Amino acid sequence: MEKICTLDEFNHRIKKVVITKEEIEEAIQRAGKEISDSYDGRPILLVSILKGAFVFMADLCRAITVPCEIGFMCAKSYYSGTKSSGVVKITMDLDQDLSNYHVIIVEDIVDTGRTLRDIVKLLKARNPLSLRVVTLLDKPDRRLVDFKADIALFTIPDFFVIGYGLDCAEYFRNLPYIAEYNPE
Ligand code: 5GP
Repeated sequence: MEKICTLDEFNHRIKKVVITKEEIEEAIQRAGKEISDSYDGRPILLVSILKGAFVFMADLCRAITVPCEIGFMCAKSYYSGTKSSGVVKITMDLDQDLSNYHVIIVEDIVDTGRTLRDIVKLLKARNPLSLRVVTLLDKPDRRLVDFKADIALFTIPDFFVIGYGLDCAEYFRNLPYIAEYNPE
């Protein structure tokens, strides 16, 4: 996509709102309660995968009412065709020793499932006390590998979405809702 220059162009790309700000807020409150109830009294580390999950992480951690720590990592998976090379390149790593924590990965969207499958494998090798995955969005129709998040706030059909941290060419992360992207 070309760099967007005008507000008209920006607005034109937002096809329709598929999940409102209010629906996201409600679902996050429910997920926060579920996490608070099940991890109370245990050392929790929320791990967000940048950049897409930064908005979700910011809201989810504030819906958790028990002590928790946060961490960020940037990871890229490399594939040739549909085959995984099995290589996850960490471009920014966590600074915590995972063996001291119940780790909850906080992700924006599970699509083919390959990125999370690789990250889960990588983090499990660091021996966390336990490991679970929370994703804001799940697109099960697109799955190429056997992967299921422990908590998925919304299941969506197979179309490209933007907003609430999710981008297209680095734009639209600042939208407070999830929208379908208009490619035309
Ligand atoms: P997977 O490895 O599950 O195929 O890919 C996950 C990553 O692909 C997500 O973290 C996200 O960055 C990107 N992705 C997948 N589907 C979408 C989508 O509909 N919209 C946006 N903005 N990114 C997506």
